[in-house]
Amino acid sequence: MKEKTMVMIPGPTPVVRSIQEEMGREIQAFGDPRFVKDFKSVIDDLGQLFGCDGKTFVVAGTGTLAMEMAISNMTRRGDNVLIVSNGFFGDRFIDICEHKGLNADVLKAEWGSVVSPEEIRKKLSEKHYAAMTVTHVDTATGAAADIAAIGEVMRDFPETIYIVDGVAATAGEYENLAEMNIDVLFTASQKAFGVCPGLLLLWANKKAMERRATLGVIPEYYCDFDKWVPIMDDTSKYFATPAINLVWAMKESVRIIKEEGMKARYERHLKNARAMQKALESIGLVPLAKEGCRAVTLSNLLYPEGMDDAKFRATLLEEGIIVAGGLGAYAGKMFRLGHMGNIDINDEVAVLGVIERAMNQCGQKVPYGKAVGVYLEEMAK
Ligand SMILES: *Cc1c(COP(=O)(O)O)cnc(C)c1O
Repeated sequence: MKEKTMVMIPGPTPVVRSIQEEMGREIQAFGDPRFVKDFKSVIDDLGQLFGCDGKTFVVAGTGTLAMEMAISNMTRRGDNVLIVSNGFFGDRFIDICEHKGLNADVLKAEWGSVVSPEEIRKKLSEKHYAAMTVTHVDTATGAAADIAAIGEVMRDFPETIYIVDGVAATAGEYENLAEMNIDVLFTASQKAFGVCPGLLLLWANKKAMERRATLGVIPEYYCDFDKWVPIMDDTSKYFATPAINLVWAMKESVRIIKEEGMKARYERHLKNARAMQKALESIGLVPLAKEGCRAVTLSNLLYPEGMDDAKFRATLLEEGIIVAGGLGAYAGKMFRLGHMGNIDINDEVAVLGVIERAMNQCGQKVPYGKAVGVYLEEMAK
């Protein structure tokens, strides 16, 4: 294996030098006024960037804990929850809801497509749901839900809390709580923010905070909003030790995002994704997600006839990039390629070049430079 390996899985994503350096800083006490100030600025910036009129939570943990945090603070045992599942991570909410004694109804899309806003409207009209979860981009399929259109539907169901899993989307796909009528949004540091794993971000708007207030004491302890609100409001307070270096790393990621601009960042992801997808299709790799619902943060690519998944991915690793395998029924038939966060055109040219080499080594006759050429041509437009 080459010493330098590009991590092109759908998270963790590549961590740029300036963010790495924050991870390597000498530790400070969580009560150090310098850290208290840094922590506060991250929370405030994140709240503003995503249009949150309620509370923003920055807590040590992963995306899965954020899923649990969202559900735990919005529902009580016995509530009805609607789960909109477009794949593996949507399904994870079923398990979470079952563990919590919630009545989960599930709207499922075939892998590669998404449940439509009309189907959601119909289901919500049938009975009262305390909350609904939607995965923005399901990492197992590469399909993106139209969370803005679903948000419009939600205006007619104000009793239902609209929860969006943004783990493979937030800071790559465009999201804004106020504009999209989202009540709870969450993500994790290692996806489109381009930070190391270990931090969850969760936004809860005013309406969500009002729901939390109606629940009283909840069974969960570490992920209880009530435990964290005092710390998010005054970062000099203690509940559980903040992940200090990760907070600094997140602060640098947020600085990069502010400098780039949220809309510009989304447009960069969009242009790059469509160019990557066209380039990959030109050499016989077909995105699983249907046109019209393809994510901009990652692509899940079906192999042409005769490709050996294990050999292909092992060859890629030899050549210096790592991608992820297919999940579920697509294991062995597909690979998953992340293209989110702080990556640039040169990274992508390298990725495509390595894919071309590996495909040739796996018996496919791919002209060298073909995908790279298509990509560069699209990017020059
Ligand atoms: C990665 C991911 C998760 C889980 O996040 P972890 O940090 O691995 O716990 C949840 N939802 C989606 C859509 C994801 O991509």
